[in-house]
Amino acid sequence: MAARRTLLARLRSAPQAVAIGLAVVVVVIAAVASALLRPGSGGAAAPADDGKAISAAPRPTGSASPAVRTNPSPTPPTVPDSIQHQPETAGKNVNITIDDGPDPKWTPRILQVLRRHHVHATFCMIGPQARANPALVKQVVADGHRLCDHTVHHDTGMDKKTTAYQSSEILGALDMIEQASGGARVYYYRAPGGAFTPPSRALAAQHGMRPLGWNIDTKDFDRPGVSAILHTMKDEIHNGPTILFHDGGGNRGQTVQALDKALTWLRQQGYGFSFPKVD
Ligand SMILES: [Zn+2]
Repeated sequence: MAARRTLLARLRSAPQAVAIGLAVVVVVIAAVASALLRPGSGGAAAPADDGKAISAAPRPTGSASPAVRTNPSPTPPTVPDSIQHQPETAGKNVNITIDDGPDPKWTPRILQVLRRHHVHATFCMIGPQARANPALVKQVVADGHRLCDHTVHHDTGMDKKTTAYQSSEILGALDMIEQASGGARVYYYRAPGGAFTPPSRALAAQHGMRPLGWNIDTKDFDRPGVSAILHTMKDEIHNGPTILFHDGGGNRGQTVQALDKALTWLRQQGYGFSFPKVD
């Protein structure tokens, strides 16, 4: 305040000072403008989006440097950064979520089961697997399912590492999944093993991906047998609406059979099928 008053006093008193004052103002405006025009992730639409995100949650330090997105899709809207479990359709609905693929052997079989039951699911994909199987990613989208970012390396300890590392895990996979899909929207981010952190949730949300949790872990990953997978799901059905299965990470033959039976049972119980709510 004092400095401003001094400057004003000078402006009134001396004409030379007016010129100096104007020059200072021009330099300040130029500096502010250049700072605003330097987006962290490339693309002309970034500054407005960044501004909104900063007010909602602190931006992770160093997030701009490690994961420069090579071909970002049009900036999606910023979404809330809290972990979502609820379906976007009101009523008695569940969200089927399928993690750790895509896998050339198991994903097509899972897709077949979903098609037979007319059920849409959410596929949480690992970046390099999406990159290696672009036709499968496109098939998932063509069948009406939604994509979810499940990071580059599926590091369940990523919440103990730097925000720069978390950022590269999330944005790296987002890039791979978007490119493999031909630019389809990635609606969700699910941390491997639920290893979310406030900065990683904020980063995902800034890129239009709602952090996605689960309520029922069918434990299909451990291959306990088809009936055990079913039993776990039925047993935990009142935990909440988001159910976790896997189409990657090993032999998923049990999952294919269990999912088929699970979808039949859920319909018999009067459940419908939805996607997790995004915003
Ligand atoms: Zn996983």
